[in-house]
Amino acid sequence: MTVRRIMGLETEYGISVPGDPLANPMFLSGQVVSVYAAAHGIRSNQSSWDYAFEDPLRDARGWQIDRQSADPSQLTDLDDPSLANVVLPNGARYYVDHAHPEYSSPEVTLPRDAVRWDRAGDAIALESVRLLAERPGQAPVNLYKNNADGKGQSYGTHENYLMPRRTPFPDIIRHLIPFFVTRQVVCGAGRVGLGVDSRGAGFQVSQRADFFETEVGLETTLKRPIINTRDEPHAVADRYRRLHVIIGDANHLDVASLLKVGTTSLVLGMIEDGHLRGDWSIRRPVAALQAVSHDPTLSAHVELADGRTMTALDVQWMYLEAARSWLDARGDDPEPEATAEVMELWEDVLGRLGRDVMTCSGLLDWVTKLELLEGYRSRDGLAWDDHRLAAIDIQWADVRPEKGLVHRLRDRGRTRDLIDPEAIREARETPPEDTRAWFRGTCVKRFSGQVFSASWDSVVFDVPGRTSLQRVPILEPERGTRAQVGSLLEESEDVVALLHGLATPED
Ligand code: ATP
Ligand code: MG
Ligand code: MG
Repeated sequence: MTVRRIMGLETEYGISVPGDPLANPMFLSGQVVSVYAAAHGIRSNQSSWDYAFEDPLRDARGWQIDRQSADPSQLTDLDDPSLANVVLPNGARYYVDHAHPEYSSPEVTLPRDAVRWDRAGDAIALESVRLLAERPGQAPVNLYKNNADGKGQSYGTHENYLMPRRTPFPDIIRHLIPFFVTRQVVCGAGRVGLGVDSRGAGFQVSQRADFFETEVGLETTLKRPIINTRDEPHAVADRYRRLHVIIGDANHLDVASLLKVGTTSLVLGMIEDGHLRGDWSIRRPVAALQAVSHDPTLSAHVELADGRTMTALDVQWMYLEAARSWLDARGDDPEPEATAEVMELWEDVLGRLGRDVMTCSGLLDWVTKLELLEGYRSRDGLAWDDHRLAAIDIQWADVRPEKGLVHRLRDRGRTRDLIDPEAIREARETPPEDTRAWFRGTCVKRFSGQVFSASWDSVVFDVPGRTSLQRVPILEPERGTRAQVGSLLEESEDVVALLHGLATPED
């Protein structure tokens, strides 16, 4: 694989109720999700996301249909909104996690699509806020696409990448840590305040760096690790790994977002192919991560295990050069244009950062935010510990276009956008065509009344007149595409016809 691979982005949105700091965020997050689901006629998945079935029958298309199953009436419906958990017609999951509304994008295969369905999530978050605001007597709820509340809490944006199981995990750790320590200069979202509680005065490159404590580990909310070892592939487990990346920031700017997933996918491709031979291990990587973040001039040096010292930019150039030689040597890229776009933007951005950081305004989140803050600072003579700057940092990420400062810059044409607004609107309702998200999302759209539950690796139908639930496992992320099942889904009048079609071998 090159830049093309199965991937998905999860975003936990910050939530607040202006004027009511004691509001229960878990309950409100549930309302955010439920109000959207109700407005779109989507049934809550609630207790059944991880619903387990056994011994599925395998059919000729690689799909499996399970006929021995549970009685749906045995499953209690939970009406606590904090348990809201829905699958959207675009194949995404929208639910409550850690007292935040979370949008987990459908699986895509290209960086541009990752950006597109991630931004569809922002549009869905915005619509949820608007819907809640219309409810009489409802406290106003705001959502923020950021990763730190400025008071000591951080919440995640996770990237997920499909990898072959055979790639040795020690290789992933060794080659990804230096990359993750340094890629923030490209995809950091910028933050006012230093330290977990933001008590130190200053501006830093990333939202998340200060919240990381260790190099490798299973946790995602405590003792956060640079490399997360969570291993739930949501796919054929002996063939695939889902690499769960928790160190990234939530991006608003398309170029940064595209480079976050695009360059990471390239580095994973090099690791899979054994192309990275040298050891670029960084000494004391957690401290280095924070040192790089705390220096927006990008002159901080990290020390490699072999004794060399270099800047984060130098390290990024090493990865870029390695990617170039790897791509030249391979020559079998199924998506040369997507790869070229990532490579060209990566080189352009690293070049600009080296010449003059501020030339990345409109391309990278942290630089664009810094430029805006510097404007306020020089106009009003504000010091970095002025609480107004911290407030601007939060307001930057407000999902509402009339309030969110990044949206206002976008409206004024100050950001370089890669995704057409119409494509984003469409992606709220439409799944990506080239992954199993097509099957999942289209089932939810076409047969919503009969979809009992859906998850990354299965759709469970409650067929009228049948006592048992019918489960269709979708364990191969690249199967269930529009090309494979589009016409079957279109032609099936009902779920019975669909299940029959899936069980019938293709000619
Ligand atoms: P959390 O971190 O919130 O506890 P999680 O990481 O297990 O949960 P979800 O919030 O359900 O998972 O999101 C999973 C994400 O991974 C989605 O964006 C989805 O598109 C993507 N994904 C699902 N299966 C795969 C896979 N096999 N490989 C890569 N990405 C996948
Ligand atoms: Mg999640
Ligand atoms: Mg996750």
